[in-house]
Amino acid sequence: MKRIAILGSTGSIGTQALEIIERYNEMFKVEVLTAYNNFELLIEQAVTFKPSIVVIANEDNYRVLSEALKNHPVEVRAGADALEQIVGMESIDIVLAALVGYSGLIPTINAIKAGKTIALANKEALVIAGEMITGMARANRVPIIPVDSEHSAIFQCLVGEPDAIEKVYLTASGGPFRGKDRHFLENVTKKEALCHPNWTMGAKITIDSATMMNKGLEVIEAKWLFNLHPDQIEVVIHPQSIIHSLVQFEDGSMKAQMGLPDMKLPILYAFSCPERIKTDLPRFSFTDYPELSFESPDLVNFPNLSIAYRAMKTGGTMPCVMNASNEIAVQAFLNDRIGFYDISSVIEKTMDKVPFVKYPDLADYHDVDKEARLFAESRIV
Ligand code: MN
Repeated sequence: MKRIAILGSTGSIGTQALEIIERYNEMFKVEVLTAYNNFELLIEQAVTFKPSIVVIANEDNYRVLSEALKNHPVEVRAGADALEQIVGMESIDIVLAALVGYSGLIPTINAIKAGKTIALANKEALVIAGEMITGMARANRVPIIPVDSEHSAIFQCLVGEPDAIEKVYLTASGGPFRGKDRHFLENVTKKEALCHPNWTMGAKITIDSATMMNKGLEVIEAKWLFNLHPDQIEVVIHPQSIIHSLVQFEDGSMKAQMGLPDMKLPILYAFSCPERIKTDLPRFSFTDYPELSFESPDLVNFPNLSIAYRAMKTGGTMPCVMNASNEIAVQAFLNDRIGFYDISSVIEKTMDKVPFVKYPDLADYHDVDKEARLFAESRIV
């Protein structure tokens, strides 16, 4: 029985993880659930899954949460500190890091320090501090198992032969605006941007998919997870999202991992690996997909992918600045404060302005993240 802490249990990954745990409850048990704000769903989840502890990050919701759960055998805690400390609990085997953005960084680091296996959905943590996190994981002999579908695919392709990688190809669906030009993109609405053709995901990552920043973040995530040079990572547009990513080995041979696009598969694999568990999820049918197609990404109309490569090559705090300004710009777009096309320009201006630290420590990340957010916010009128 693997005991699991889900950081971000009310989000898209968190709720899908709970569906898996419910179905395979003889193999997995929920030990901790955490949410930022959504106490209603957290209460429901706590009653159903009976974790030892629940944490609500927003302390304003502590009273109503603890009142609702007072007759249940669950400890209720609140605040960012509680969230950061909880991951060290003796009774946890796996921490599913499914927080969004910078907020997942410290809990992930603390879970690694405590020796917990990390199932990583929070790609931004690796984007911001990939060198630090992977270094700590090596030092503590903690496996980081990717939940992101592309990285799970590469991880699966590398089982048994991790060392002879020539390059990896990350596939991208291209999002809802594939093939559109600048004029079209300047006028898209948030409703259109939130309609992803293949994947069901949270709002932030869905906008990131539409702008291609999601793929940019994933390129950096791949660099750290698989110890790659920037030239070894290529993005290919694959609109059907059936091939989840590919590895090309040094002899020229390639392996792809395929399947229907369903996040439950990589979540389940992160929990069960190196084993595979029999499922009744729908199977791929070749006749439903007579054609799998591929094209190059459009770097002119979707500048975020090039921006991310630049941040990766610059290193230091640049990816942290990129991520922070992207989080601010995406939120501003979701609040109807800026247009779709302004997202890239807010990011670029912030990357040009916020002071750069080549060899950052955790305090530098904290400061630079804050500064980048303030600057990005000042560019939004
Ligand atoms: Mn992905």
